[in-house]
Amino acid sequence: MMEEQSLDLPLSQGSFSELWSVLTPSISGIPRVNNVPQESWRTDGSMDLMVLNDHSLVEGFDELLFELPPDMSAKDGVNPPSSTVPVTSDYPGEYGFQLRFQQSGTAKSVTSTFSEQLNKLYCQLAKTSPVEVLLGKELPLGATIRATAVYKKTEHVAEVVRRCPHHQNEDAAEHRSHLIRVEGSQRAQYFEDPNTKRQSVTVPYEPPQLGSEITTVLLSFMCNSSCMGGMNRRPILTILTLETAEGLVLGRRCFEVRICACPGRDRKTEEENSTKMQNGTKQTKKRKSTPAPVPDTSSVKKSKSTSSAEEEDKDVFVLHVRGRERYEMLKKINDGLELLDKDSKTKSRVSVKQEFAVPSSGKRLLHRGERSDSD
Ligand SMILES: [Zn+2]
Repeated sequence: MMEEQSLDLPLSQGSFSELWSVLTPSISGIPRVNNVPQESWRTDGSMDLMVLNDHSLVEGFDELLFELPPDMSAKDGVNPPSSTVPVTSDYPGEYGFQLRFQQSGTAKSVTSTFSEQLNKLYCQLAKTSPVEVLLGKELPLGATIRATAVYKKTEHVAEVVRRCPHHQNEDAAEHRSHLIRVEGSQRAQYFEDPNTKRQSVTVPYEPPQLGSEITTVLLSFMCNSSCMGGMNRRPILTILTLETAEGLVLGRRCFEVRICACPGRDRKTEEENSTKMQNGTKQTKKRKSTPAPVPDTSSVKKSKSTSSAEEEDKDVFVLHVRGRERYEMLKKINDGLELLDKDSKTKSRVSVKQEFAVPSSGKRLLHRGERSDSD
């Protein structure tokens, strides 16, 4: 039932277009016609759930954001660059803003590597991580790319991400308190919002060189995730926004970052744990190293980007469940359905008249309250 190929796919918070580019690497460079697939995929708004949950706990959150379709917010400039809590939903916008990471694998020696499966960058302290920017069409002059770090978990999101005192003290640079740096550009500018105190760095967007389709931005992270007095083991997200010269947001991409001594090893471990969790064979003790659950989000992703209605029931879905108790409960239901599935395949279906409709794949039950992607 579980297909091998599904294991390489991003688990959650990825966009359709990212998924698409994973599935069709050979043609992923083709300029997109705006973001039609993205928009149609997210009509149920499930992509925004994480953000909404985060925000709803913060006082004074602008309720209007709930009502605006994603593409309105940028066009109208509703997103001020200095919102109290940065938005972390992906939004390719009319320029089809996308990120791509080099395939660095999980070798021991690797200093920076990206997991498509987890939408997560693993890198070493102060080592350069190249991030490739792809756009579907030409930008107006003066556009910039801004990088901002934010804590991933709701309970930490109000706190500003900064470097730890130790690393700040041993650095003479003017922007020494900034976690994220842009390397290789004299035009990088470091900002601290006067109201929120959040820090960010911008670099002018340079159109791709002749014969290339990408622009590379070099990021480095100046603390370990484990730094005491800094991140202190709290997971962070990096938000990259594409902005006009005036700071109007044109597009946004978001990924998790872990800064550690062994990026390759940690990526491998976390991907394996995540796969085990998908397979439902996860052991209780492994829990701490699985990726943090998205707050109360039913983020459902299909293992194939296209499928007919018949194929759909063979697809494997991933569900993030908050709380062990709820997870165990849903797992029991799923296990039961799987068993029934097996049963009905071995016995002849004719003899067993089910009292209630059992989906031909138990995975389907996990949709609770969600619409299928193909709806
Ligand atoms: Zn530090």
